[in-house]
Amino acid sequence: MTGKTVRVNVGKGYDVIIENGILNACGKILREVIGNGRAAIITDSNVSKLYLQTVFNTLKNENIDCESFIFEAGEQSKNISTLSEILEFLAEKQFVRSDTVIALGGGVTGDMAGFAAAVYLRGIKFIQIPTTLLAAVDSSVGGKTAIDLCAGKNLAGAFKQPEAVICDPEVFSTLPPKEFANGMAETIKYGVLFSEDLFDSFNNNTTPDQLCEMIEKCVSFKARTVEHDEFDNGERKLLNLGHTIGHAIEKCSNFTVSHGYAVAAGMAMIARASEALKTAKEGTAKRIEAVLKKYSLPTDFDFTSDELTSAALSDKKRSGNKITLVLPTGIGECILKDEPIEKLEEYIKLGKENN
Ligand code: ADP
Ligand code: ZN
Repeated sequence: MTGKTVRVNVGKGYDVIIENGILNACGKILREVIGNGRAAIITDSNVSKLYLQTVFNTLKNENIDCESFIFEAGEQSKNISTLSEILEFLAEKQFVRSDTVIALGGGVTGDMAGFAAAVYLRGIKFIQIPTTLLAAVDSSVGGKTAIDLCAGKNLAGAFKQPEAVICDPEVFSTLPPKEFANGMAETIKYGVLFSEDLFDSFNNNTTPDQLCEMIEKCVSFKARTVEHDEFDNGERKLLNLGHTIGHAIEKCSNFTVSHGYAVAAGMAMIARASEALKTAKEGTAKRIEAVLKKYSLPTDFDFTSDELTSAALSDKKRSGNKITLVLPTGIGECILKDEPIEKLEEYIKLGKENN
């Protein structure tokens, strides 16, 4: 068993502990954070059936008193009424400032439990146990929490850093293949952004130890980037590789295309456009497409350039009449480029597979 720990130096700092099988034995780590307080586990209706008992048992072994709140799995639960139910639950069970909220689940759970922990009693301690690959490589670092509003996704939230993140890659074995691929899209993104070695290590029969290593690398890259830019103004924009077009795809599909699938196609499109404009080395797009295909991830969608452009221009990330694009120059290297918004359509056109 090869455990890895990544230190994230944001706020007072915390560890992301990545180890196969650690879920069965995380009581001691949890105890360090929880101290003599109580724990509230927030989880969804799928994850609770698979892993809640395991976490209960480790807490019981440490004599930690805990309660759990289970909500209906799925993005449609990520709203103000579930958040309100969680807050009322915490109050009803008389949780106090020195107690701890544990998010056991994917990105949806982490977002909502983190938001609740940020605002309940003006903030109580928070631990994340990501159970999707997407949550492990993406939402476990950065401290962003959010809920969706009727007006759009992730429109209300708070920055909330966890006290610790505990990641057991063995839990990914129960993920539906589409959910695993969804997380692989963000994982591949880190390869394109930061490391040709990581990029070349992707194959679709990853061993548990390789999975640990892969997650460690992604988490380290994200941690180093976020440390330099905690409030998301500069360098952190690199993490948006594939996301400008990706968000447009999600929007055009009315959010029936999941985030990773949209980012995969967004990444392939921006790579093809960068190559056409000679920003990226020849062959870059083909290599990205080949890796995405290994995981049955898409490299384009049937939306027209017009549809994608207008969806992209209504995105909240836009500032004034400029847009910051993340352009691959090769595998493992990307640049930020400010472009006038009128140029976005050209990128999207050049990015389509049959332009
Ligand atoms: P995200 O992709 O942002 O992490 P969710 O939190 O909604 O999104 O998780 C995606 C789906 O996978 C949900 O239906 C959730 O219940 C389910 N899920 C999460 N973790 C596991 C797991 N380890 N095994 C099986 N299903 C899981
Ligand atoms: Zn993303």
